[in-house]
Amino acid sequence: MDQPKIDYSKKALEEILTFKGRRPTLLLHSCCGPCSTYPLCYLAPHFDITLYYGNSNIFPEEEYLHRLEEQKKFLSYFERDFGYHVSLVVPPYDHETYMEDLRPLADCREGGERCHLCYKKRMEEAYAYASDHGFEYFATLMTVSRQKDSQVLNRLGEELSKAYPKTKYFFSDFKKDDGNAIGNRLAASYGLYRQNYCGCEYSIYSKEDGKGD
Ligand code: SF4
Repeated sequence: MDQPKIDYSKKALEEILTFKGRRPTLLLHSCCGPCSTYPLCYLAPHFDITLYYGNSNIFPEEEYLHRLEEQKKFLSYFERDFGYHVSLVVPPYDHETYMEDLRPLADCREGGERCHLCYKKRMEEAYAYASDHGFEYFATLMTVSRQKDSQVLNRLGEELSKAYPKTKYFFSDFKKDDGNAIGNRLAASYGLYRQNYCGCEYSIYSKEDGKGD
């Protein structure tokens, strides 16, 4: 039976209301520059943000580096135009090791079991970093993507928060309230490169379906 849908956008607002003007530290996992535009605008007034670009899923490495450069570019525009400095953490890229767990699920449809494991791997790596470095909150901005199920992502975040109790999980649904469309417009206005496939080699073959992030 399907699980009841939770309004994670509402949960995000309820959490922010508890801050009462305080700006807690947040480690924010980011998949790419274009996807980071709207979530950064939404979160920066409320959090002291560090972005974690941990995306060993991306193939080939040139593409990973290209997306990283676009991410850096947007962070510098964001500081210039919105006045918020956001630090960036870039862990080592290791696609071969990363894909070991995903290869047995090569035949899964995009958005299915393989992708859920992929979200979990990246979120867990970033969550562990947040916990080790004393961040008050952890979130992923992948909930802005129309291709990624926010219910699944938030359930994963909630599950991971039990393993890292020192860092609270910040629920989100950035695609709500036109977040995805606003992010697309921002990315276009800054001339950011937007990939036309999700990341791994399997997703390159489904890019004809228009399944970018
Ligand atoms: S399609 Fe995207 S989310 Fe799914 S396994 Fe590949 S990189 Fe990960």
